[in-house]
Amino acid sequence: MAGLEESLRVTLGGKAAAKLDTAFGLATTGDLLRHYPRRYARRGELTDLASLRDGDQVTVFAQVEKVRTRPMRARRGQLLEVTVTDGRARLALTFFNKVQYWERQLAPGRHAMFAGRVSTFKGKRQLAHPEFKLLGADDAAKAAEYAAELIPVYPATKDVSTWDIEKCVQIVLDTLGELDDPLPAPLRERYRLAGLAEALRGVHRPADDAEAERARVRLKWDEALVLQAVLAQRRLAAAALPATARPASAGGLADAFDARLPFSLTAGQRDVGAVISADLDRDHPMHRLLQGEVGSGKTVIAVRAMLQVIDAGGQAALLAPTEVLAQQHYRSVSDLLGPLGQAGRLGGAEVATRVALLTGSQPAAARREALLDAASGAAGIVIGTHALLAEQVQFADLGLVVVDEQHRFGVEQRDALRGKAQGARPHVLVMTATPIPRTVAMTVYGDLDVSTLSELPGGRSPIATHVVPAAEKPRFLERAWERVREEAEKGRQAYVVCPRIGGDDAGTSAAPADFDALVGPDDEDEAPARPPLAVLDVAPALEQGPLAGLRLRVMHGRLPTDDKDSAMGAFADGSADVLVSTTVVEVGVDVPNATVMVIMDADRFGVSQLHQLRGRVGRGTEPGLCLLVTEAPEESKARQRLADVAATLDGFRLAEIDLEQRREGDVLGAAQAGRKKSLKLLSVLHDRDVIVAAREEATSLVDADPDLAGYPALAAEMSALLDEEQAGFLEKT
Ligand code: ADP
Ligand code: MG
Repeated sequence: MAGLEESLRVTLGGKAAAKLDTAFGLATTGDLLRHYPRRYARRGELTDLASLRDGDQVTVFAQVEKVRTRPMRARRGQLLEVTVTDGRARLALTFFNKVQYWERQLAPGRHAMFAGRVSTFKGKRQLAHPEFKLLGADDAAKAAEYAAELIPVYPATKDVSTWDIEKCVQIVLDTLGELDDPLPAPLRERYRLAGLAEALRGVHRPADDAEAERARVRLKWDEALVLQAVLAQRRLAAAALPATARPASAGGLADAFDARLPFSLTAGQRDVGAVISADLDRDHPMHRLLQGEVGSGKTVIAVRAMLQVIDAGGQAALLAPTEVLAQQHYRSVSDLLGPLGQAGRLGGAEVATRVALLTGSQPAAARREALLDAASGAAGIVIGTHALLAEQVQFADLGLVVVDEQHRFGVEQRDALRGKAQGARPHVLVMTATPIPRTVAMTVYGDLDVSTLSELPGGRSPIATHVVPAAEKPRFLERAWERVREEAEKGRQAYVVCPRIGGDDAGTSAAPADFDALVGPDDEDEAPARPPLAVLDVAPALEQGPLAGLRLRVMHGRLPTDDKDSAMGAFADGSADVLVSTTVVEVGVDVPNATVMVIMDADRFGVSQLHQLRGRVGRGTEPGLCLLVTEAPEESKARQRLADVAATLDGFRLAEIDLEQRREGDVLGAAQAGRKKSLKLLSVLHDRDVIVAAREEATSLVDADPDLAGYPALAAEMSALLDEEQAGFLEKT
């Protein structure tokens, strides 16, 4: 009797084992048994043949309709053409040799599974020489095999069909002995989970849906517990690493900064600030994720943390995902610090530090100075892109690394920067403006502590959002422009946002280079009928039409810098009523007098992006209004998305909605190469309960028994996962 470590060569023989290895990288019986069915077909089920696409490798369920032999044209011999049907559409199957043999098997009326590559021949869709397996017994001995109602359908390839895999799985299941269960017995009892062997049999050969489901739940637990136990160990180990404590001290830069702030911190900012301040005071490294929407005041918190570290004699690095954002951080951090960031310069405060910017494209002299300031410690704050990770960048005493927009940085990069601090590890603060649903945070960033800024700084007014269905109700769109005019008459201002610049960019997106990959719209099922509306078309149309007489300015990424500055300047000082622009207003624009935003072709934007865009209005004392103009039909997915955005101001809820429309792999991201492979059944979108419970269970197991010496089966699965992750990282470098 075999366990899960047995080589498939022993159990199945060399030939079958080699095929499984080449096709799927399966080496052991455990590997094969964890190659789960993609789904279960019901006996009698027929595949929708009309949906097959040219070039696809498919497994279809169909019934033989007619069989015909004819001589081949080009060579001697016979050709067999079998027509199969799903009751509506047809598919041709062609066989070129052993014609009589195939003909005897594929009698009209028989049901079978066919596997092959779809091609088109003389306008007819066909499978040339498919593999097949007959369904339904032709003798009593086989009747038992065909009794089960559910047929597992496995991920298959050209060389290994789903029923080949089924057969191999059957052999392995028949030789399976006692198994060590990675789930501790008390846990299994608490959650009424199937045992491992029972679950493996149940997932591959379920008698009914209930058995398959019970098996899958149990196997999801394996994935969740193993991952969470790894993360729990990682948290424990990180907490034990040495770091230099950077305690807050009175009368330093941090205090001077607080005194300089033109506003008072929100309660959320104070709370999170206190937590971070306490983290920095420990002699173990902080690993904290700070999430909060654009404008929630993360930068201010990061600067306070950096100043605490500088006051304690250290330096801080701030990493941005792009050069543009690094430069923007450089400007806003320098502005926030004022004289406090001008040490040794004219106008610098007595107690002060310096801010250095390091990017790949800066002139050599500026770069040299920044490198020197980093190495000497003269720069308390060093801001840059991942160029900061380059080896020649040295710090005198790096105490804190702040990473902005986490999802662009992999774990390896975080590690590289941590390595910049000699001996002790720096504290790490990761900031993200894309709210991360709890289960994703637990799965992808499970080794980080998480803080959230959920309130926007005071003085913000509520934003009302409405969908304007321009196609069905043109009157609503007229009303939208009337609203813009009314606001302008009251001395207030409006944004009109379009998805595209226009001119010669036909079809290309106007999204800025740092457009958030996580929030792109993704409607393959609703092909756009016309190119999205463009700033350069909409602006003149408004100027000559519904907004005639108002002062319009145009803003987009292709404008020369001077024109951008002048347009933004005019809008900021109130000498323009309306700014017609692309999504460039998404980042870092703050005009409190703007009260309306009209988003054209709103269905072309992602949910989170719409949410971030509308955050530009309602920043003053007047309530904001956001109008989502769309021509998408009422019942479409796009309209549903817009209705969701209109219905809630909760960034987390919207992030979840965004997520539900993505595929699992996209959610986990490329940095999580190993994770994708190890999470086969578990879904971060749909298995919240399992993930949350497994995290609790794993944490208490690891707290009580850090090496899990008492749980060898669990520990073995964990090292297998770690090997896989390691391999994933190696592949990438
Ligand atoms: P984030 O980095 O989260 O996008 P920022 O820290 O850049 O947000 O803050 C956005 C804007 O709000 C900035 O102009 C900042 O000066 C301002 N701000 C931050 N905190 C407050 C506060 N407590 N009260 C008023 N304005 C604030
Ligand atoms: Mg920011």
